[in-house]
Amino acid sequence: MKAIIIGSGIAGLTAGAYLVREKYEVIIYEHFSEIGGVTATIHQDGYSWDIGPLLLEGFAPYEKFGKMLTELGIYEKIEIMKEDRGQSFPDFQIWRPQKYEGPYWRRDYLKKIFPEESEGLDRYYKFYDYMMSVAYLGNQLPFVKGVKAIGIKLKLLFKFLKIRKFKDWSASQITDYFFKDQKLKAVYLGILADMVVKPSEFFGLGVPFTNVETAFDKRIPIKFKGGKLPVYHYIKNGCGELVKVLADFITENGGKIYTNNKVQKIIIENKKVKGVELENGVIVDTDLILASGGMFNTFYNLVGKEYLSDDFIKNIENKKLMESVFMVHLGINFDPTPSQRAALCYYYLTYDIEGAIIKMRERYYHEGAEGFLVYIPSMHSPDMAPPGKHAVTIYTVGPHKLKEGTWEDRRDEFADKLIMEAEKIIPGLYEGSETKIIMTPDDFKKRINVIRHSFGGTAPVLGEDNPPHKTPIEGLWYIGAYSESGGGVTGAAMGARDVVNRILKKE
Ligand SMILES: Cc1cc2nc3c(=O)[nH]c(=O)nc-3n(C[C@H](O)[C@H](O)[C@H](O)COP(=O)(O)OP(=O)(O)OC[C@H]3O[C@@H](n4cnc5c(N)ncnc54)[C@H](O)[C@@H]3O)c2cc1C
Repeated sequence: MKAIIIGSGIAGLTAGAYLVREKYEVIIYEHFSEIGGVTATIHQDGYSWDIGPLLLEGFAPYEKFGKMLTELGIYEKIEIMKEDRGQSFPDFQIWRPQKYEGPYWRRDYLKKIFPEESEGLDRYYKFYDYMMSVAYLGNQLPFVKGVKAIGIKLKLLFKFLKIRKFKDWSASQITDYFFKDQKLKAVYLGILADMVVKPSEFFGLGVPFTNVETAFDKRIPIKFKGGKLPVYHYIKNGCGELVKVLADFITENGGKIYTNNKVQKIIIENKKVKGVELENGVIVDTDLILASGGMFNTFYNLVGKEYLSDDFIKNIENKKLMESVFMVHLGINFDPTPSQRAALCYYYLTYDIEGAIIKMRERYYHEGAEGFLVYIPSMHSPDMAPPGKHAVTIYTVGPHKLKEGTWEDRRDEFADKLIMEAEKIIPGLYEGSETKIIMTPDDFKKRINVIRHSFGGTAPVLGEDNPPHKTPIEGLWYIGAYSESGGGVTGAAMGARDVVNRILKKE
């Protein structure tokens, strides 16, 4: 009943919480000086910023993360705020109207911009409604058992039959099916640029899930005839609050979390886990390990290729990973809200999402010229900045390694360029900054101890499987953004919960 968890990101903490609930003796080792992985909130000069996720899905009581927190009895301990975001393109902007105009205002607004696409938009939104009812059932399934689970599975199967023809379609095929204009397609494909997955690789049935209408207008009623819609929340005072709540639950239930403790080897004997060796040479025995973190480090360094089959290694080698991010966090001494109406807006500066991703995979960094986002967390959580001031994050995706030069050499130059791009939206950012933190892909790499940084783990690509939770080594489970569950806060946490359930079933 002793488990060692490697990593205190959302996957490690979720696994830890579920295991202490089952009275396991839990030890979490975290190599960095602070817990939380990419869900940490950082602080400087009275300002706070999130280094990872911003507007989160899955936190309503009927959604997966909400249900997990309820199961653990800690849902009330975090304060969440339902919100939405803006979307900006070179020729038009999509902001929720001042006065609520119904659940389909985006469809009607887009019809005005693209009148020749009216019929396609109507067809898309029928498809969208259908997929939302699928999402609702999918959210419930992991939390029910017996007859209820069978009932939901049957309903899902029945629903799937109707959309079966789209099963192997890519996101490009889906948008081509509904729309003609590249600019309109970019409205629905733009988010894939953020994930650095090509529209021709992403699964088409995922398009509605990455473009839920409530993300653009929080006033849309959650109830609809197919169930309840996914909704988006900020965590008050940042994601670090969620980290704290989970960590407190673990330690209050006897678990231990050690920071500045890097695991450098997983000790294996006869293909079974025997313990871990820490960087300081200390060896800790256990027959159960849940490892999160990068897949190259976990499997090549901590485990060792000699314990893995050629097929297992080949799968890892062939996996497509997301790229990284370049971030500038600013503390500013003025009110930016006249320039940006909501805490978050994505500014897309190209309509060629596929082309932008191809270039990025060739290690070309666009320096902000192809798009970025601006996030002002102090708009929803005023305590994240001193009174009358604001915390601002500007970030964009970037290759994990540059084609020319290094991130370290070019960090200040790139930060200035990104601020200049954002100045076009919020004038005065440069002059009005009183503190700044730059985070390059190399900084992320060091902070979360990965060999190759990918901001969300493996890229969700059609027909590809991630390394499984259950590894070829007895007693070693792999969790987190690079594992079977895939990335995302809710995805990685659900994967960890699933692994604990499988451990309890002695699988
Ligand atoms: C900028 C950014 C924006 C994002 N936006 C969103 C979003 O909007 N919505 C969303 O759902 N998801 C988003 N994500 C993705 C999501 O945050 C991640 O997929 C998820 O949080 C990963 O959790 P994890 O526990 O698997 O990994 P991590 O958070 O990376 O945690 C792994 C932990 O393991 C530790 N570790 C690694 N190796 C060792 C070792 N050998 N010994 C000890 N400790 C070790 C690391 O230090 C780290 O703390 C975003 C991510 C980033 C970076």
